[in-house]
Amino acid sequence: MSSDPRQAIDTIVVDGLALANEIRKELSEAVGRHVAAGRRPPKLAVVLVGDDPASASYIKGKRRACERIGMDSLEERLLATASQADVLAVVARLNGDVSVDGILVQLPLPAGLDPNAVAEALDPEKDVDGLHPVSAGRLLLGLPGLTPCTPLGIMAILERYHVPLAGSSAVVIGRSNIVGKPISLLLQRANATVTMCHSRTRDLRERCLGADVLVAAAGVPRLVKRDWVKPGAAVIDVGVSEVDGVLTGDVDTEAVQGVARLVTPHRRGVGPMTITMLLRNTLAAYEARSGAR
Ligand code: NAP
Repeated sequence: MSSDPRQAIDTIVVDGLALANEIRKELSEAVGRHVAAGRRPPKLAVVLVGDDPASASYIKGKRRACERIGMDSLEERLLATASQADVLAVVARLNGDVSVDGILVQLPLPAGLDPNAVAEALDPEKDVDGLHPVSAGRLLLGLPGLTPCTPLGIMAILERYHVPLAGSSAVVIGRSNIVGKPISLLLQRANATVTMCHSRTRDLRERCLGADVLVAAAGVPRLVKRDWVKPGAAVIDVGVSEVDGVLTGDVDTEAVQGVARLVTPHRRGVGPMTITMLLRNTLAAYEARSGAR
């Protein structure tokens, strides 16, 4: 037996795919109830600008996920040479299309296009990525609204695995609009005391060592190492990077086993939950627009 007392902890590896499938089944049943009542199914519009293979593959996965739970989807493709005005025109058209409930513009956009201006152009009622200033403001103020999908997925994982948040110390690495900021707000809303870290944070390891809940969303492969993790902590790995052709997370998952109480793997972890929350947001947008429940 190892003399390291930290070896004593049995680490739970989160099965994000199983949880995602459970929630998707509930969503599918909800869609089925609407259709059985004579209403059209919810519809998600996805907008892809350019031909980045990773983005194209994400879009494909999202549309397939819609189809599997009985939702409709449509795809708008623009050339990489599209202007800002071209993208805004597509968004305006989808805003005005009464059969569309949710609009997702796949990021990153090609260089020269302004993602903030595109987010601002969305009808906030159809903003299923939660990036419009109205959505962000509602989240900040604690009002109901559409919230970014990855943070929602993380909160669902923490809830499902009974990770205590009230009074806990949470550390978030990353302060992006789509992950770091919103997950910090959601954790704070759940009464955690939150520290937001970023590329200019000093003593990052020491801050992480104080975390009961550690969310790594920096996009830096294996940034979080074994000796960064407090024994018994819940560690959520959001990062996805490619290293020598292999997808790698922000956490050295193998190394934190035996120290963390819970860790999400970089495959079948947060990723499937992100798409699931996109479906949930689309259903919520549909129900809010049609007044149907
Ligand atoms: P982003 O916009 O690039 O933001 C990265 C954040 O990490 C920034 O706030 C940056 O700090 C911080 N950071 C970078 N290097 C750091 C370091 N060495 N130490 C501490 N902080 C550091 O990325 P994002 O969109 O939030 O995504 C983060 C990662 O999650 C990416 O790998 C992305 O692919 C992945 N992701 C996964 C999912 C999923 O569903 N699994 C969903 C979304 C994103 P500054 O602000 O100072 O620059």
